[in-house]
Amino acid sequence: MRNDRRRFLGLLAASPWLVSCAARTAVRDAPVAAPPTTPEDLSALATELEAELTGRGFALPDLREERVIRQLAGVRPYRRGGIRVEGESHGGFPLFHNYGHGGGGLTTAWGCAEEVARMKTMAGFVRGSRVTVVGAGIIGLTTALRLQEDGHRVRLVFRETTPHTVSDVAGGQWAPSLMAWGSGPSAGPRRDRILRDSLRRLRAEIERDVGVREVPNFVAMGYGASVGKMAGEYLPDATWHDAIPIRGLKMAGTQVDTLLIEPSRYLAALWERLRRGGVEEQVAELAQLDEVRQFGDDFAVIATGMGARELCQDSAMRPIRGQLVLLEPQDLGYLFSHAGGYLFSRGDALVLGGTVERDVEDPTPTASARERILSRHRRFFAPQA
Ligand SMILES: Cc1cc2nc3c(=O)[nH]c(=O)nc-3n(C[C@H](O)[C@H](O)[C@H](O)COP(=O)(O)OP(=O)(O)OC[C@H]3O[C@@H](n4cnc5c(N)ncnc54)[C@H](O)[C@@H]3O)c2cc1C
Repeated sequence: MRNDRRRFLGLLAASPWLVSCAARTAVRDAPVAAPPTTPEDLSALATELEAELTGRGFALPDLREERVIRQLAGVRPYRRGGIRVEGESHGGFPLFHNYGHGGGGLTTAWGCAEEVARMKTMAGFVRGSRVTVVGAGIIGLTTALRLQEDGHRVRLVFRETTPHTVSDVAGGQWAPSLMAWGSGPSAGPRRDRILRDSLRRLRAEIERDVGVREVPNFVAMGYGASVGKMAGEYLPDATWHDAIPIRGLKMAGTQVDTLLIEPSRYLAALWERLRRGGVEEQVAELAQLDEVRQFGDDFAVIATGMGARELCQDSAMRPIRGQLVLLEPQDLGYLFSHAGGYLFSRGDALVLGGTVERDVEDPTPTASARERILSRHRRFFAPQA
């Protein structure tokens, strides 16, 4: 890539014709620009041209007001001190907890489901035993499915499910953010296991066409996005761009190839599998943990997200509200992270994020957050001369 770029720059220097020809191609969608003069400008132009000429140039998002569909907000179920993925005997009844995933539930759900499967096996629950899973967001659905795979008879009990859960509000990037992993010697290895198991399960979904795909996330230079911390260890190495290959954007940054999970589509696909496997469904809101015994099953899993604060009387649960603005879908083919927010190009919408509002749990979107999110992205993506 570097050698190709050097050769390309050499070509540019050697051929005024190529410069004029290629420059016309590269900037055809952008306002007329002054000719590049500095080495940095030339380098950025070369990268942009290279992307254009090889068909790898991406388009800028269209952020005009008429493309906005709606705004929505949700409360990330953050748990101080770490996610709660553990077993307990509640008055003699075996319970497994799986909640507190903050801003990383889509990212870690399958790995946590795998942890629950290991724990229940160690506790002696084998094929044929019956389980109640309370909660039908991403955590409850993946856990239920994982237990069904082990041959358990699964009952799902929930207050609401897709499209009315926090999981449906999520942006959908594979990158753990705003979540705590706990402390002690087992926390690091467990985190590693959860992330690897999750990635393995989600990668296996790609070819099933259920709303999971691999996409580049461009990260503006100098911005420490959570996905950047995953590169090289869980995700492929980050690639440096002198100019991020988006036509009309003159900016250096990195590219991290990650997964995009389209929440509502994926949750619907999980439901379909569960129903095919004969899951029993029950709409109910549990007020106390003891009530889980009424179903008469052998053990239970609590996957109630923020609801665990009341149900398990867990004062470590802290809401972190997040708001998003949705625009009509635009097939951009990338995610983008910068200091002013993030942008995810999904099949159902172009998603602009977002806010991080600690200890706010009213999920009603506000007009001021909407304007803030839009103006930050508009400023950032304004076509540059
Ligand atoms: C704006 C925003 C953007 C996000 N972006 C991402 C992202 O890009 N990537 C990522 O990995 N994560 C992201 N997240 C985080 C992700 O949405 C959460 O971590 C995840 O949804 C938590 O899933 P859950 O199943 O625990 O909770 P929920 O989806 O809230 O599901 C909880 C379930 O429990 C049920 N329930 C609760 N209490 C009771 C009760 N007492 N009795 C019966 N049922 C009950 C509910 O009805 C529901 O079915 C984002 C979150 C927000 C708000």
